[in-house]
Amino acid sequence: MTMISIVVPLYNEEAIVKRNLQIIAREAQAKDHTLEIIAVNDGSADGTWAEICNAATSDNRIRGVCFTRNFGKEAAILAGLMEARGDGVIVIDADLQHPPTLIPEMIRLWQSGFPVVEAVKANRGKETVVNRVFAKLFYKIFHQLSELDIAGHSDFKLLDRSVVDAYIKLPERNRFFRGLIHWVGFRSARIPFEVAERDIGGSRWNKLKLLKYAINNITMFSSFPLKSITWLGMLMFALGGIVGSVSLIQKAEGTALDGFTTVNLLIIMTSGILMVSLGIIGHYLSRIYDEIKGRPPFVRETQRQDIQS
Ligand code: UDP
Ligand code: MG
Repeated sequence: MTMISIVVPLYNEEAIVKRNLQIIAREAQAKDHTLEIIAVNDGSADGTWAEICNAATSDNRIRGVCFTRNFGKEAAILAGLMEARGDGVIVIDADLQHPPTLIPEMIRLWQSGFPVVEAVKANRGKETVVNRVFAKLFYKIFHQLSELDIAGHSDFKLLDRSVVDAYIKLPERNRFFRGLIHWVGFRSARIPFEVAERDIGGSRWNKLKLLKYAINNITMFSSFPLKSITWLGMLMFALGGIVGSVSLIQKAEGTALDGFTTVNLLIIMTSGILMVSLGIIGHYLSRIYDEIKGRPPFVRETQRQDIQS
C-alpha cells in the first residue's frame, strides 16, 4: 500500500497544533493509502512541542521532530522531508492558510502521474499593501535574475519520492524550497487556491526576517549582483571618456586650470580600472559560488511506474 507523509513546520503554534493536525489528518486519510504526519517544532518558545507530543500519543500517525532553537521554516521543511518515509510527501503550513481540503485532489493528480503537485495562490489573502508590493517586487526580481518564474507559488506541495530524494540530495545548506523544487524541474500539476485567513495569531515572519529571506533567495539563484560591478565599471569608463575628452579639449584651448587635466585623467583611469578589475574578480567569485553550491548539472526523470496504475 502506498504511504502519504505530511510535513508540517511549526513555530509558536501551541494554540492550533492539536486541532489543525487533526483536521489535516482527517482530510488526508483515505482507504487506498496509509498516512503519517511529521510535525516539526522549529524551536518554538511556547508549548508547541508539548502539544505535538500529546498529539503523537493519542494518534500514532503523528510523529514529531524538535529543533534546539528556531532555525527557520526552510530548515523545518528539510528536516520533515528527511524524516518522511512516504511515497508521496505533502508540505503544508500549520495555520490552515493552505486549505487541507485540497489534499485529496493533490493525491489524485500525483497518482495520475505528476511527480510534483503545487498549490498556487489565486490570491494572496488578507495582507498589508507593503507586504503585497514587497512580494510582487521580490517575485519580479527573482524571475528576472534566476529565470525561474515562481510568482504565486507556495510551500504547499505534494512531491513524489523521487523529487524528495533529489531535493534532499542537493548539497547546498541554504535552501529556498519553492525555488529549488522548480529548479529540479520535474513535471508539475497546479491547483489554484484562495489563501485563507490565519485563524489565530499573526504571521510568524517579521519584516526583517522576510527581507533577509528575500535577499538570500535572490543571491542563491543569481550572481548578477556580483557581476553587475563590471557594468558599473564600463559605465564609469564611458563617463570617464567624456570627462577626459572635455578636460583634454580645455587643456588644448588653454582654458584648463594648471594640473587639473592630469588629476582628472588619473582619477578617471584608476577608478575605471579598479571597477573593471573588481568586476572580473566578481565573475570568478560567481563561478566559485556556483561550484560550491554543488547543484548537479542535470536531474534525470525517474518516473516511478507503480503510482501510474
Ligand atoms: N514557521 C516555522 N518557522 C519559522 C516561521 C514560521 O516553522 O521561523 C511555520 C509556521 O509555524 C507555519 C508556517 O511556517 O506553520 C508558515 O508560517 P506563517 O503562517 O507565519 O507564514 P505566512 O503565512 O505569513 O507566510
Ligand atoms: Mg500563515
